[in-house]
Amino acid sequence: MEKTLVLVKPDGVQRGLIGEIIGRFEKKGLKLIGLKMVSLDDAILDSHYAHLSDKPFFADIKDFMKSSPIVAMAWEGGRGTVSAVRILVGPTKGQEAPAGTIRGDFGLSGSNNIVHASDSIENGESEVGRFFLADELFDYEKTVTAHIYAKDER
Ligand code: ADP
Repeated sequence: MEKTLVLVKPDGVQRGLIGEIIGRFEKKGLKLIGLKMVSLDDAILDSHYAHLSDKPFFADIKDFMKSSPIVAMAWEGGRGTVSAVRILVGPTKGQEAPAGTIRGDFGLSGSNNIVHASDSIENGESEVGRFFLADELFDYEKTVTAHIYAKDER
């Protein structure tokens, strides 16, 4: 199974989009295995955005991510899950993101872009581990799995 981390960023929380965003992934058929509201600190943001540490907007993105609590979710699914979640989220810049994607439907910014989603299977595993303790993740049977996937896709 693939795991992926989705964050509802401070703008999504402030704008009342938490339910809408959770609903999109639920309706897609993904399995929610972790969910919590949390305030982020420099330590977690320094590791989460380590790939952006040399960018001029690094300090601003960290301030933005600390401007309100965020909602962290861990989702699980069969082959292609990480990529499917990125497709639902849309490209980085809300102004350019296609209608139908979360960023395209709700955003006008390349910085305040509503959600984060892991960009690879490896990052999905490591980011879920960064944001969730083992006992905050739930291993359970989703009974509709046989209706969502063909046998070789689960
Ligand atoms: P994504 O979130 O689409 O995977 P990146 O990993 O490149 O994109 O960047 C992480 C986050 O940093 C983006 O979601 C956005 O909030 C912010 N960001 C990226 N590029 C810029 C930029 N040029 N100016 C300001 N903020 C940016």
